[in-house]
Amino acid sequence: MIRSGFKRDRREILKAGALLVGGGALGAIGGARARSAPAAESPAPLIELGYSQVQFESGPAERQARENRQLLLDLDEDALLRPFRQRAGLPAPGGDLGGWYDTYAFAPGATFGQWICALARYHAIGGDEPTRAKVQRLVAAFAATIDSDGKFYRDNRFPAYIYDKLAGGLIDAKRYAGDDRAIATLSRATRAAIPYLPPHAVPRNEHAQPGEDFSRHAWDESYTLPENQFFAAQLTSDPVHLDLARRFLYDDFFLALARGENVLPGKHAYSHVNALSSAACAHLALGQSTYFDAAQRGFDLIDAQSFATGGWGPDEHFVAPGSGALGASLIDQHKSFETPCGAYAHFKLTRYLLRITRDPRYGDSMERVLYNCALGATPIQPDGRAFYYSDYTRAAHKTFHPDRWPCCSGTLPMLAADYHVSACFTDPHGIYVNLYIPARINWHQDTAIARVSIATEYPYDSTVTLSLELSQPRTFALRLRIPAWATGASVAVNGKRSAAPIVPGTFAAIEREWRSGDRVELDLPLRQRLKPVDAEHPNTVALLAGPLVLMRILDEEPASTPPLPRRALLAAERALGKRQWTVSHDSRKSQLRAFADIDAQRYSVYQDVV
Ligand SMILES: [Zn+2]
Repeated sequence: MIRSGFKRDRREILKAGALLVGGGALGAIGGARARSAPAAESPAPLIELGYSQVQFESGPAERQARENRQLLLDLDEDALLRPFRQRAGLPAPGGDLGGWYDTYAFAPGATFGQWICALARYHAIGGDEPTRAKVQRLVAAFAATIDSDGKFYRDNRFPAYIYDKLAGGLIDAKRYAGDDRAIATLSRATRAAIPYLPPHAVPRNEHAQPGEDFSRHAWDESYTLPENQFFAAQLTSDPVHLDLARRFLYDDFFLALARGENVLPGKHAYSHVNALSSAACAHLALGQSTYFDAAQRGFDLIDAQSFATGGWGPDEHFVAPGSGALGASLIDQHKSFETPCGAYAHFKLTRYLLRITRDPRYGDSMERVLYNCALGATPIQPDGRAFYYSDYTRAAHKTFHPDRWPCCSGTLPMLAADYHVSACFTDPHGIYVNLYIPARINWHQDTAIARVSIATEYPYDSTVTLSLELSQPRTFALRLRIPAWATGASVAVNGKRSAAPIVPGTFAAIEREWRSGDRVELDLPLRQRLKPVDAEHPNTVALLAGPLVLMRILDEEPASTPPLPRRALLAAERALGKRQWTVSHDSRKSQLRAFADIDAQRYSVYQDVV
């Protein structure tokens, strides 16, 4: 029974276009390349739900998705198409969008494909006609700008970077907005770009200077390309995509990671994390475990050099372990985490690793980035001002990037849509709840229609209530992520507390016959604890409560104050009913808030303690 249900779920997922859900279906695109034998005992990856299967209730995640969808719906279509029309020598009515986007600017039209991706995903979530119609108009108008000479890519700094985003947009236009013309457009766009792509994955040349001849792709980021090409290969069966996916696999980087070498220091952070999703995808597509090893070890190295917020890459680069560089960056490095792009790449990578390994630590990591980075991003403004870096200095504040429509204005709308596919996963035996966002989640449990509704104020409150509805009673496992910090967590089913110990750092499995009206109460005590920025700065700590980093607000006190005793910081008390904590020591009182609750205030993520 369960088995046949699994097969049907798989078909539904494939029909919806969510690819790479398991090893079996992918052998078809693996071709003749040497393949390592898949480990017989490892289960298939967890199944990603469709965008429409997770509907958020009002809250910060729902708000961010709603705001970004509206921003994209309001973008002027002639302005969006202008770089493509002008570079093709076509009439280009209307004005410029500005910033990075313009025809001969830093990255012409670079976010166009990402915005099509995001719109298509928003259509998949809400099913609304205006969003679908905008996707189809943009694809049709873009198709009219493609010429066989690829004029768009001439004197273009980022052929691979921009082509990759266009490919992603066209793939999602087909997968999520049902635009059949997107496939032919993808074929033409690919053939136009190919002459301008480098022969193999080339690392971003960190020494290239603005104004330098970039015809040799000195700044391009071709190594992020394979993931979308694997998707395109499965969607279209056009062999050109599998060739491109393989050609741009960044084997110099991946094989070194798989061998256990730390090759991160000095590398550009976001693009290399993004490339690790290509490694995870290559593992699923080609069945080569070396690529899985690269993604997993790469993640471990990134995790080891992350801030307490889950962010990484001060000044957009990885640091050397043992150098104390993270702590040193707090002095004057205002560019601490390329937040929307970094969070988008981090969500994708941890989603792959969670699905493949079922290890909840990837969910813990995703959750840290959600609450301490992504949800605190100031909304993109209609004129293109966009949040870019998180500032972790001792007198930090939120700002926009100096240039309008930067890369992060392309990734934030996609990220906000992707919360939907990151919240829960299924397998033949039940459901895994990963993020405790208020939502209604629908899935098929073999022949039954199942729904779990999540109600919670988490992470400001420790209690999460899950209510089940089923078309018929069904026996399956409801698995709840118990974060590694959640000592003392408990679960009650229909008011009866579970006798089995709930172990932090696991998925707690409740297997029983579930019926409509069943109710589960999960309690995750929001333990307060201190985390030093790195081993070289043991007295520079962040205060955490559950997944939240509590940041000190500097409005009413100077940035440089005497160090606090650890126990005073740990004893921070939350004001009743408020999203604010107070630390009292001697006559001094400090206020602390989570990143998402900070607006124009100056703040300090890290505090000095004795
Ligand atoms: Zn960015």
